[in-house]
Amino acid sequence: MSLFAILKSTENKSGHSFDRSFDQCLKCTACASQCPVAAVRPDYPGPKQCGPDGERLRLKSSEFLDEALKYCTSCKRCEVACPSDVRISDIIATARSKYGNNSFKIREFMLSHTDLMGTLTRGSAPLVNKMTAIKPVRLVMDKALGIDRRRTFPAYAKTSFRRQYQNVAEQQAQFARQISYFHGCYVNYNDPELGMDLIRVLNAMNIGVRLLNKEKCCGVPLVANGFPDKARANARLNLANFEQAMADGSEGIISSSSSCALMLKDEYPHALGIDNSKVKSGINFITRFLANEFAAGNKPEMTPVNLKVAYHSPCHLIKAGGVLHTLNLLWEIPGLELQQLNSNCCGIAGTYGFKKENYETSQAIGSPLFRQIEESDADYVVTDCETCKMQVEMSTSKQVLHPLTLLRMALV
Ligand code: SF4
Ligand code: SF4
Repeated sequence: MSLFAILKSTENKSGHSFDRSFDQCLKCTACASQCPVAAVRPDYPGPKQCGPDGERLRLKSSEFLDEALKYCTSCKRCEVACPSDVRISDIIATARSKYGNNSFKIREFMLSHTDLMGTLTRGSAPLVNKMTAIKPVRLVMDKALGIDRRRTFPAYAKTSFRRQYQNVAEQQAQFARQISYFHGCYVNYNDPELGMDLIRVLNAMNIGVRLLNKEKCCGVPLVANGFPDKARANARLNLANFEQAMADGSEGIISSSSSCALMLKDEYPHALGIDNSKVKSGINFITRFLANEFAAGNKPEMTPVNLKVAYHSPCHLIKAGGVLHTLNLLWEIPGLELQQLNSNCCGIAGTYGFKKENYETSQAIGSPLFRQIEESDADYVVTDCETCKMQVEMSTSKQVLHPLTLLRMALV
């Protein structure tokens, strides 16, 4: 654990470590004004009360645990607003797993073990996709598991990204510059084409793409669903593979998921107590890496795309301070008319919006965004987050593209 993490956390009498950043709360209530859940649920006490205020009480007795903590989406908008660096969302997430009901729940297991579910569906993706789309199956999942029947499931790909990569692996090794790609569960099992877009864009900039020897889910859904120990094990495996990749000559690690990138680079130390300082500076969200390359003069040859797009900034990219990098990149695409949406949270928050008890909250949070999108005359919506894409495509008439896909469309 880094010195910083040690200073910011300590242990209570029962031996549980906890985040001491609640002591820094100034009671300014800036966080409350930014909470998308508090805006639509009058019964949610809000970030200040659930976070720093509640933590003081919970440290005295776990009986002070408020059931309403389960409604927090971990969007981290409160942390962005906080002038005193209180880790509000982490305090809430830790309190839920430390003091809450930790009995095994099949729904939480299924929603959070994304790499296991992807592996199990391998070879039967078309059947699984058909099954999860039909009404009677959705009804059973709703009644038996508590996964809302109105939620659309992302389709599984026939062939995983790692398998597709084998066709281009030799070609990638020819490039003098090499970067390692943390593809994450979504690209591997649901959207391998996005991974191939990343390869095409980087190859057009004379950079080869390597895969890590092994990678596991970054841990975001595991933390959100009460599996912090599994998230820690995954973090240790991922970091060991990052260190190995950099020792083998890779320039760094890139991710095309804004939530994975935030977790890997910024959240491992304080959300999981795992020190990532040896590789932290080498981890980048893809648009930051590309924007820096463009600024240094390494731009691919591009042709006008002649498209109008509306950009939605995901919560976790805002938290990472990465929105400007994506915008800088999009502004470089010739023939692209870019409208910035006045984005609040889209409401899905990873696995949150799949749960029956959260569905209405999820859609209520997202409705101002959906309205803006429907009122725009954009050809596509653009966003950096896979679950924002799922939510917007389910709730509006527009198709959603990743910035990488737009860049690939612009390549000569
Ligand atoms: S993380 Fe998001 S939902 Fe949770 S308290 Fe903060 S602003 Fe509200
Ligand atoms: S914004 Fe930060 S300092 Fe202000 S009330 Fe919320 S937690 Fe406390």
